[in-house]
Amino acid sequence: MADQSRGFVRALGAATGHVLASLRWLGTRLVAPLRTGDGPNEFRLSSVETHTTTIDGDTGWAHRPPATLRCPECGDEILQADSSAPIDCPRCRVDLPADRFTDLDLLALTCPVCRSGMQYGRRHPEFGVPEWANCPNCQYHWEFKHSY
Ligand SMILES: [Zn+2]
Ligand SMILES: [Zn+2]
Repeated sequence: MADQSRGFVRALGAATGHVLASLRWLGTRLVAPLRTGDGPNEFRLSSVETHTTTIDGDTGWAHRPPATLRCPECGDEILQADSSAPIDCPRCRVDLPADRFTDLDLLALTCPVCRSGMQYGRRHPEFGVPEWANCPNCQYHWEFKHSY
């Protein structure tokens, strides 16, 4: 009997350790998208694969959804895959650095998860760039800045 209860306590201890490890892992995943300045967002890929039911989202200009801009020369649509990609027109010779974004007309933001057109807008009229975007299809949400 004494041996059995010791075994039970050991098993309980192992189970608790496993739960704590899971929580730590979850914490890392939740913190990850708030980091800025890194490359392709691997967090998003993994959450699509696992089909999580939590609403997906990102924060910060580095994680801005793909944008469609109006070419200032020929008027064609230019797709800028992310906020640091050059703005180069597929039709004419226009090739602008990423920071010229604010000079161009923004035509659309594309949901990085399901490729739907997103709703977007500004919270401050003086801002030259969108500050939020929301996907009406999959509810993916992007914010320029994290709001507390
Ligand atoms: Zn062009
Ligand atoms: Zn979507």
